[in-house]
Amino acid sequence: MFITFEGIEGSGKSTQIGLLKDFLEKGGHTVLTLREPGGTSLGEGVRSMLLTVRDEEICPEAELFLYEACRAQLVLNVIRPALDKGVIVLCDRFTDSTLAYQGYGRGLGLEDICRMNSSATGGLCPDITFLLDIEAGAGLARAWSRLHAEQGVKEDRFEREEMRFHEKVRRGFLEIAESEERIEVIQGGGEIRSIHKDICAIIKRLSL
Ligand code: ADP
Repeated sequence: MFITFEGIEGSGKSTQIGLLKDFLEKGGHTVLTLREPGGTSLGEGVRSMLLTVRDEEICPEAELFLYEACRAQLVLNVIRPALDKGVIVLCDRFTDSTLAYQGYGRGLGLEDICRMNSSATGGLCPDITFLLDIEAGAGLARAWSRLHAEQGVKEDRFEREEMRFHEKVRRGFLEIAESEERIEVIQGGGEIRSIHKDICAIIKRLSL
């Protein structure tokens, strides 16, 4: 079972992944949690490169290729082998994020991105995707207060961008969800425990 979580910054993805992991492990499952970009040496390296405030803007095309390179590495070396062993994989962001951020957000061609997504994944598709939907302002306020609470952590490149960009990305996610049956839209503005309960109810329906 391959489960992905999508949504803008601060929508609650990592919080819900942690709770779902505990829930599934209590049910006797082996669970692997991953984040994109990340999960491999290449992915973690690119992640820190992308998130560091720099004196050079990374152009959208370069950004797209970097994400897809990390994804290809992650799918081949980590996700597929884990799924083959019967491990449940929970991933914080996957192909829908690339469509939402690089496509709807930065204006790159959606069809090109879909082609690159399927080439990077070798056709691997999540069994289910939870889209945590929240207004850009509310999500960013959460993300920023978390970051500022951590000593020495600077705002990252995405979080310095305007609210309008994040609203565009949010609308992109919702549009993708309309055309993809695997995506469950969850109201991310609700209470942490009640969102977790809703997610567990959906997972139980999948007879896990
Ligand atoms: P993401 O991984 O989507 O960026 P996080 O799970 O890291 O989001 O959540 C960002 C911040 O918001 C964290 O400080 C977290 O504790 C808080 N948070 C997450 N979900 C909720 C929620 N439903 N209500 C209030 N605060 C939340």
